[in-house]
Amino acid sequence: MHLRPLLTALAAASVLLALSGCAVIGGVAAAHGAGRPDSRTDSAPISTSTDLGQADGYIPVGDRVALTDDVPAVTNLDPDLRDALANAAQAAAADDVEFTLVDGWRSARYQQYLFDQAVTEYGSAEEASRWVKEPDQSKHVLGEAVDIATADAMDWLNRFGGEFGLCQIYANEAWHFELGADASGTCPPPLTDSSAG
Ligand SMILES: [Zn+2]
Repeated sequence: MHLRPLLTALAAASVLLALSGCAVIGGVAAAHGAGRPDSRTDSAPISTSTDLGQADGYIPVGDRVALTDDVPAVTNLDPDLRDALANAAQAAAADDVEFTLVDGWRSARYQQYLFDQAVTEYGSAEEASRWVKEPDQSKHVLGEAVDIATADAMDWLNRFGGEFGLCQIYANEAWHFELGADASGTCPPPLTDSSAG
């Protein structure tokens, strides 16, 4: 569909993902949400990633999950998003592109941890919010966002994801996709960063 997303994806994947962003890289992960009734949202605040577990949607740095994996990061995703990803993955497989995730659903306390880490890393809540949303604003906490693991899958989704409803939402997060396309499969222009929306 356009060249910009590919270049953005490759640059972002190699640079921004390594820094932090909304993926769980370098101990700082991503963006966005509100709580799910079945999540551990009322637990005490956590200070280290060792307090996080699979039930928080936590995926250790360097790991990734498949869309078929039976883990909360995947199974707590919004059913419409899961369906869209499954359909897109089936089409992408014909192009030898496999979808894997470094992040999906997250508990509110996991999101809070990520935000707190970002504030420490970036020096202010304002700058942190360019990369990581607070729990009550995060689409990950709602199960309405995923972070794609590989550049080829990001590129495929940027070209064809709209046909399945899937859109890159933030210009500075090439890995982050949500349902966002209109009925004709057209995605809105990406927002500058997560502080814009
Ligand atoms: Zn994300």
